[in-house]
Amino acid sequence: MTERHAGGCLCGAVRFSTTAKPGPVVGCHCSQCRRQTGLYYAAADVAHAALSIEGAEAIRWYRSSEEAQRGFCSNCGSALFWQRDGSAQISVMAGAFDAPSGLVFGYHIFCADKGDFYEIADGLPQYDGNPPSSSSPAS
Ligand SMILES: [Zn+2]
Ligand SMILES: [Zn+2]
Repeated sequence: MTERHAGGCLCGAVRFSTTAKPGPVVGCHCSQCRRQTGLYYAAADVAHAALSIEGAEAIRWYRSSEEAQRGFCSNCGSALFWQRDGSAQISVMAGAFDAPSGLVFGYHIFCADKGDFYEIADGLPQYDGNPPSSSSPAS
């Protein structure tokens, strides 16, 4: 049996699916993610080659830093993707997945930059910046 994970933006213009198991959900608490999402970014890595996207023409890409860009729906504004330049992985926003998502929250990064109006109290690992070894989302 093939596992399938699918999702899309709020208006439905962009839909994605993958048969690869997404990685753990990573919460990024940096200021860029806070501004983009309104709270903090939560996304799971999926192998780019295993992700198929419908409605890709509706995606707009915003270059948020020298190393990455962020994809969002140009119609409804939903944040969907974080793509590090040259990476074989693409981070897909956890909230965009259809339920049941099968996703598991893993850990939090850039906690040193988190907003001052909430606490991270789920008991999962917290890192001030990027985790010790990784290609996880950064600003
Ligand atoms: Zn949309
Ligand atoms: Zn971030």
